[in-house]
Amino acid sequence: MNYAGVIVNKTSINLDKIFTYRIPDYMQKNICIGCRVKVPFGKGNRSIDGFVLRLYDEINLNNKIKSIISICDNFPLLTEKDLNLIEQMRRRYLCTYLECIKVFIPTGLFNGMKDKSEIRLYKGDNLTGRFLKEPYMSIYDIVSNYEGIYTKNFMSKKYNLSLSSINTMIKHGFIITEKKVVSRYDKNKYEVYSRKKLNYEQEKAVKSILNSKKSEFLIYGVTGSGKTEIYMHIVDEMLLEGKDVIILVPEIALTPQMVERFKGRFGNNISVFHSKLSKGERYDEWMRIKRGEIKVAIGARSAVFLPFNNLGMIIVDEEHEESYKSDSNPKYNVREIGRMKCNEYNCKMVLGSATPSIETYSRCKTGDIELIKIKNRADGASMPEVKVIDMREELLNNNNSMFSKALYDLISDRLNKKEQIILFLNRRGFSTFVSCRKCGYIFKCNNCDISLTYHHDIKKLVCHYCGSKINVPKVCPRCGSRYVKYFGIGTEKIEREVKKEFPQAKVLRMDFDTTRTKHSYENIYNIFKNHKADILIGTQMVAKGLDFSNVTLVGVIAADLSLNLPDFRSAERTYQLITQVSGRAGRGSKQGKVIIQTYSPENYSIKYAAAGDYEDFYEEEISIRRSMYYPPFSNILLINMSSKNENILIKNIQRIAILLKNKLADHDKIEVMGPCPCIISKIKEMFRWQIMIKGKIDLDIAQNVKKTVYNLIKDVYSDIKISIDINPNSTI
Ligand code: ADP
Ligand code: ZN
Ligand code: ZN
Repeated sequence: MNYAGVIVNKTSINLDKIFTYRIPDYMQKNICIGCRVKVPFGKGNRSIDGFVLRLYDEINLNNKIKSIISICDNFPLLTEKDLNLIEQMRRRYLCTYLECIKVFIPTGLFNGMKDKSEIRLYKGDNLTGRFLKEPYMSIYDIVSNYEGIYTKNFMSKKYNLSLSSINTMIKHGFIITEKKVVSRYDKNKYEVYSRKKLNYEQEKAVKSILNSKKSEFLIYGVTGSGKTEIYMHIVDEMLLEGKDVIILVPEIALTPQMVERFKGRFGNNISVFHSKLSKGERYDEWMRIKRGEIKVAIGARSAVFLPFNNLGMIIVDEEHEESYKSDSNPKYNVREIGRMKCNEYNCKMVLGSATPSIETYSRCKTGDIELIKIKNRADGASMPEVKVIDMREELLNNNNSMFSKALYDLISDRLNKKEQIILFLNRRGFSTFVSCRKCGYIFKCNNCDISLTYHHDIKKLVCHYCGSKINVPKVCPRCGSRYVKYFGIGTEKIEREVKKEFPQAKVLRMDFDTTRTKHSYENIYNIFKNHKADILIGTQMVAKGLDFSNVTLVGVIAADLSLNLPDFRSAERTYQLITQVSGRAGRGSKQGKVIIQTYSPENYSIKYAAAGDYEDFYEEEISIRRSMYYPPFSNILLINMSSKNENILIKNIQRIAILLKNKLADHDKIEVMGPCPCIISKIKEMFRWQIMIKGKIDLDIAQNVKKTVYNLIKDVYSDIKISIDINPNSTI
């Protein structure tokens, strides 16, 4: 092979193509597909990194072709399977080769990080002659006692020995050195989490997954049905077969509890990838996997790309979670990557959820995914009893506090019984917004056009998009009245109310604000676990993964908050949230209770979530999706453009919309909507507009749209930022 097709490490979309380079003769036996190489690039022939995507032979090229300078690493960073995935991803997610390559390689390695190694010392020849004296004799003694001691430990204060004496001894062969790679990964202690004997339903699930000819499975099991135990048994089986496993969990669920369980079962044979790992730790674990030293990894979204060679199974827990879709390029969806990997590696994928996504469940109906239902909780616990409270009636009964009478009474009861309580709110901050009660004026951020949130601790209004802060005005700027009031509720406000109403209770709050520092989540978690607190108040973070047997009451303070988001998935999200948070109740032997407070108790997602009736919820939701032609019956392509210059933005996005409408006019199943300002019409001084295309959009059509868009704004490229997303999480 004389020529290589190379992707260069340049982010510009104009350079997203394969460049041909000549392979010098001496390099030919070492170069291979997936190698990282140094190549000369541009007019100045600056040496930059590139990745070999293809090798070709004998093509008629002119002599001006530049030559590869060198090969960077002693192994190819990417495999052929990786490259196949990269090709598919680039097409599917309308992004560049380089953007795809970057998710396969840890940042550290990409930026030139190397293995960390240390020198170990072993004893060599026996001491002779002038070396039979101090400090040589002491040094020799220590090295003999601690075979393979690291220089660093050796030089520690304890011994206080000079490096020059050691070096002299090395030179004369009295000490032998060996360079060893050491891991930056912090191996922590764990308590053994013993195997459980599977119950009948779990056993059946494991068997069908291992024996079926299908490659994709959904375990739809109620909360507490013991899915984690099923995953672990599957991992056992895979290890017996010598296969590797990737377990994906939402970042938010990478809680100490989840990690404890997996570490407790698989010890240090499992790598845990969470967002708090350093670059070095990530690099080291990636290398260990690449070398085949590790067979199992658990991690958030991006762990799906870990370089296992012999992949047998991908497990996606809580498959409905939004965090499985990336919102920066490549805007991939983990389930889709898993599907691609199943084809490449001939492996299987298991999805698990108590509230499957509509998309996944509809694929079960069509037979693409094998459905495994688990109807009972694993440890014999019964499902919690759920009650929906109409808050409008509370108001009629002169109760205008944030707790309904039912919730208030139950909290008192649980506190008396020394049982624990979780209160859930789908918001953060002190209150949601501030408005004038007289004229209805709502305070909004000038930069971002979203309502400002009052923060009690700093007594200011804060914008949650750009972070700007203002003092709370005393009078309404529109009508001059003094009825400026906080509206809505936040976790901080609930905390204050709870402390006022139940002064005897110990209260914890878990939300974005209280979990920003490194161990804060863990601390709150441990305090609650050890029953050092009675009530845990929180946002989405408390809805998932927590398994505490002493929690017998869950209160959903305002179920409507997620219902009223302007997005076609808001009903699905509401159903999921209510079910998940309810699932935290009554996990032990005591019966759990759930109170859902809402202003719209008749809404189907609230009604069915309270009844634990996923099937009926699915049927109602899927018929709405069908009639509205929303996914899974169509694809949505969201073109989002933003710019500081509103005129240029509007002019260009209008041109694009007209062109796209013309181009797509003869596809009767495709609708081009917009352009219009986004619901959040400004973020950090950037105006935002969007075009939404809905319909039977296949890969070719999507590619065409991408080309059209980028072509048209070539000249104003520096002024306008573009994002194209296929089936985005949110259309806000
Ligand atoms: P899920 O992930 O489905 O919500 P978990 O895996 O957290 O459920 O299991 C719920 C509880 O049931 C856990 O406390 C777990 O230890 C317990 N459990 C799971 N399987 C068994 C079993 N076969 N026998 C006894 N207890 C079990
Ligand atoms: Zn007013
Ligand atoms: Zn703002």
